[in-house]
Amino acid sequence: MAAPSEICRIFSISELKPFQAEVIDNLLNGSDVFLSVKTGAGKSICYQGFQPSWTVHHRSNDCTVLVIAPLISIMKEQTSYLRSVGFKATYIGLDDKEEEDIMQMSHDFLFSSPESILGVQKWRDTVNGPAGERIRLLVLMKPILLFIGKGEADHTDEPFRRWYGKLGELRSILECPVLLLTATANKSARKKIEYKLGLKNCFYHISNPERENIKLFVQKVKSTLPLEDIFHFILSKLKQHQHKCPRVIIFCTSINTCGQIVTMLRINLGKEMDYVQMFHSKITEDVKDDIRKDMEKEDGHIRVLIATSAAGMGVNFKGLYEVINYGPPKDMDAFVQQFGRVGRDGVQSKALLLYNSKQCKNVDSDMKAYLSNVHLCRRKCLLEAYNAQPSVTVKHMCCDICSKECACGEPECDTLSSPYSENVASQSSDMSETESENSATGSDVDQM
Ligand SMILES: [Zn+2]
Ligand SMILES: [Zn+2]
Repeated sequence: MAAPSEICRIFSISELKPFQAEVIDNLLNGSDVFLSVKTGAGKSICYQGFQPSWTVHHRSNDCTVLVIAPLISIMKEQTSYLRSVGFKATYIGLDDKEEEDIMQMSHDFLFSSPESILGVQKWRDTVNGPAGERIRLLVLMKPILLFIGKGEADHTDEPFRRWYGKLGELRSILECPVLLLTATANKSARKKIEYKLGLKNCFYHISNPERENIKLFVQKVKSTLPLEDIFHFILSKLKQHQHKCPRVIIFCTSINTCGQIVTMLRINLGKEMDYVQMFHSKITEDVKDDIRKDMEKEDGHIRVLIATSAAGMGVNFKGLYEVINYGPPKDMDAFVQQFGRVGRDGVQSKALLLYNSKQCKNVDSDMKAYLSNVHLCRRKCLLEAYNAQPSVTVKHMCCDICSKECACGEPECDTLSSPYSENVASQSSDMSETESENSATGSDVDQM
């Protein structure tokens, strides 16, 4: 039912992937669609291609696709891309002169933040009024944000997240199907979204969040261990290579922790360390933009980025093959999203989850299982949260647990060792010692 040849012509692609054609067909049939595929797998074409498909299918030009996006950078990028291929596209806030057109819903694609479309009366009235009937598809990017706001210190200050919670309202105003786009969503998150948006007869396309080229490591450290000892391996790399240091991103669970790590690095390295940067919701948009631009260059200036989950959105990291999570993210979706930033070009990469017992308080049951696991393949353990099976077969490329059993004899077997242990071998032996149990009960010192 979709018009594949038309879509391929417009977007200069040779063919639609099966899931893309299936999603568009379901939407044309009036079903809601929950689409969860990896970043870069081709989500956007599903709503971009819907518009021309609807037009061909209904022999009518009466179709606006309304896209709710959390970041202005996404709206900007999508708008300019869609314009470049011949569509009439804009976002609320781009240009006052377009207001009349928006009120008529005369665009093919209209992007908005949740607060603009729901919080500004004239736009709310527009959606509610006759022009709103031209909206044939509602797209919600990152529906997972529907639930953020409780206890996420880094995000409570961002108003769009409050409004995300009200998207159910928009859903009830519009009669068109909804397309939910997310990079990851575990079983329980999907259920909550389904309930919150009142999805019915929803078509699900959930791809396995497996990233074959990322080897997984977990390392527990003593909660009394000073930061300079924990991050000794980063410090020695920076001292040795400075601005040529292999790129690494360190995800922290709070802005406070980011600050503490940066301060520690500064004390140990001296002031001249502009190749270390911080990324979180409190830094200005200008600085964020600079960091995004630098991180998009393979040989960019920034070598170590200390970040909160805020860096998981709208940044396309290049030349990044090592990621460290300091403290466990609260659930698997956040974890997959964060460590999945490395190795986007397919190069073998490493993801180390480094934590102490005090950081485990606010994690969900899947994450607790992941942390307490000592025998099972980590990949297997992680994918259990998604009802999926790992596809990696070479043991030394899989995880630190599988590695121990590898007897392949290939040189790689050694080079893929943990970023943590390989560099702290000279440290005192109690570095790797784990604490006595009760890992999930300590108080979380990282909350702001
Ligand atoms: Zn494994
Ligand atoms: Zn091996």
